[in-house]
Amino acid sequence: MTKKNNLDSHHVKMVTVYASSSAALRTVYYNAARQTGEILASAGKSIIYGAGGGGLMGSVADGALSKGGKVYGVVPGFLQDLELTHRGLTDLKVVDDMRKRKHLMLEGSDAVVTLPGGSGTYEELFEALTMKRLGQWVGPVIIVNTDGFYDGLLKFMRHSVDERFMGRNHLNMWTVVEKPEQIIDAIESSHAWDQDALQFANVTSANA
Ligand code: AMP
Repeated sequence: MTKKNNLDSHHVKMVTVYASSSAALRTVYYNAARQTGEILASAGKSIIYGAGGGGLMGSVADGALSKGGKVYGVVPGFLQDLELTHRGLTDLKVVDDMRKRKHLMLEGSDAVVTLPGGSGTYEELFEALTMKRLGQWVGPVIIVNTDGFYDGLLKFMRHSVDERFMGRNHLNMWTVVEKPEQIIDAIESSHAWDQDALQFANVTSANA
């Protein structure tokens, strides 16, 4: 699949952002996260995310809100009780558990942007990629590789293709950018993808 999306970024209205909850990172990560929020909001995109007030999540939300963007949070009740939730969001949905939250964060979203993170972020990113591989959700997935954070993971994903756990065309499921200012272009130029992906979801000798 070499076709480009032809996706006019104006059609991407709602962007799901996955990002770290950590409050102990190097400044370079918070700066890139804040910039990501500013850029998405300035481009007229709304954000849906995990509702965190700290970590890279909080920086994204603060950046977007500072530019007048709309930021929607989805949080399970037990996390809200920990008072980690951002208090200035456009809207906050409280759900029963992490699964419902993950579902709601992706449903109705036009694109995914993943910033550096830990297990929570990986789980969310790989859920989106798995849904995409099966043609159940087909938007652009942008990985923001701040300071080369994802180099190791990207190498491993290529290794998975080389070892035929995924097909060559599955490499088209995500786009890597080094800087937040490349996100909007990456959304527009990501590879076309649709429900037909189900036809090549499983690797065979034809698509390895
Ligand atoms: P992690 O990368 O492990 O810090 O997890 C961050 C991701 O998991 C975010 O995209 C959130 O959706 C979710 N998450 C994990 N911990 C929290 C938290 N304390 N507050 C809000 N969301 C969280």
